[in-house]
Amino acid sequence: MMEISKLLEGVFIDGSWRAAEAGLLTTEEPATGRVLARIARGGEADVAAAVSSARRAFDQDWGQWTAVERGRVLTHFASLIQTHHEALARTECADTGKPLTQARNDITATARYFEYYGGAADKLHGETIPYQSGTTVVVQREPFGVCGLITPWNYPAQIFGRTVGGALAAGNTVVLKPAEEACLTVLRLTELAAEAGIPPGVLNVVPGLGHEAGVAVASHPDVDHLSFTGSPVAGTAVAQAAAANHVPVTLELGGKSAQLVFADADLDMAAEVIVRAIVQNAGQTCSAGSRVLVEASARDALVARLDRIMSGLVCGPGIDDHDCGPLINAAQKTRLENMLERGRSAGMSVLAQGHVAPDAPDGGHYVPPMLVTGVPPDHEVAREELFGPVLTLFTFTDDQAAVELANATDYGLVTGLWTQDAYRSIALPGRLRSGQVFVNNYGAGGGVELPFGGMKRSGYGREKGFEGMKSFTTMKTVTFSHGQ
Ligand code: NAD
Repeated sequence: MMEISKLLEGVFIDGSWRAAEAGLLTTEEPATGRVLARIARGGEADVAAAVSSARRAFDQDWGQWTAVERGRVLTHFASLIQTHHEALARTECADTGKPLTQARNDITATARYFEYYGGAADKLHGETIPYQSGTTVVVQREPFGVCGLITPWNYPAQIFGRTVGGALAAGNTVVLKPAEEACLTVLRLTELAAEAGIPPGVLNVVPGLGHEAGVAVASHPDVDHLSFTGSPVAGTAVAQAAAANHVPVTLELGGKSAQLVFADADLDMAAEVIVRAIVQNAGQTCSAGSRVLVEASARDALVARLDRIMSGLVCGPGIDDHDCGPLINAAQKTRLENMLERGRSAGMSVLAQGHVAPDAPDGGHYVPPMLVTGVPPDHEVAREELFGPVLTLFTFTDDQAAVELANATDYGLVTGLWTQDAYRSIALPGRLRSGQVFVNNYGAGGGVELPFGGMKRSGYGREKGFEGMKSFTTMKTVTFSHGQ
């Protein structure tokens, strides 16, 4: 088992670690399939204690801090993350399976979130509104109070950064339920947050299962705001729990994002970026550009380029820093393989494929990156989130067909648009039903400064960037009557 502090086997409430009422869970190392660590199995009572602690801290401590004081401590936390960068990256690599270089990038981004939100904390201004004579109207931004954050396993550290960073900078206190599959880095970051000077009760962390600790956070009546990042199914359950308590919720859900490639694009650049964006985190990225939609006249030229890159890709343990790591667990691998099998029965063929390193451990969950085609457009391989390193290829013949194809999923997270035509690059983004459009570039999961979130089944609300911090605030309108 991994050498992490015994203390991290608990829940973190009111500034200290304690055993969870329901004991412990084990987590698995994706590279080998072996047990990696023990984490707490938090439940309703732990969440209740965490919410009380967060409420107290909001009412009596953090809630009274000035914005500049909050910003300073978050900025200090950012530098502490940088001090521990390599150890955090190695933990993230072992826990999620992602290649070490990607894990290092994730920790850099995590530190950057706290740097960004630390700097932004005292720039959150209100407004005045011209109203009746003799009155002055001020609209002030205020924190909600206690924020419940529920996060997934694919980017544990980065999503910790964007949610905790935004929520704390805006003046809230937090109860965080990280994912049971991978949360070791989150636990270590929690320890560092305390070391950085974030006071007891401001950040409480309750690891555990979705249907236990997750449900308890989502349904707790004293939580004022929820942020959920994860699957659409669990997102629906969280939104229903939020509705029952009449609290706002941000839903950051899945995607089936399109890479729309026109014949006039720089195909060399497009192919490089498209492959990188699907291989990143073994395709287990909400914003992975998993559908390649190419203008028919450029199909062969693009496929040749994708083939050349993909056939050289190697999948293996994250610590060996291959191009692609394993999937998170056996269940994800079986789910993906079953979907691909059903795709084959429906006419799918493989156009290009990488390979698994010969010395990759047998128990690891490796799937080589691949480019497939031939599935009917309404097949699950074409429409559902596969969450693996698989690109699905389709062709179109004109702009209208391209837009229709790009929009033909229930999701709406990101679109990549590859064209050198100035008119098209300006005209098309407005017609694409997704929360982000990248023109001649693509940032799967990237962009600390860029508001991020979806349309349709990809969710609603925005995190990241300045908008992300605003998502953790409510507005209060104050009207002063002064007679003149
Ligand atoms: P998941 O929905 O299974 O779990 C996410 C979190 O929710 C975990 O902490 C889990 O324990 C908890 N949970 C599960 N059921 C719950 C319930 N009923 N009530 C409360 N909490 C519950 O998702 P996952 O498998 O961990 O992550 C993969 C999914 O997350 C993919 O669909 C991916 O696209 C999505 N995702 C989205 C973004 C984004 O920013 N849009 C980012 C990363 C991942």
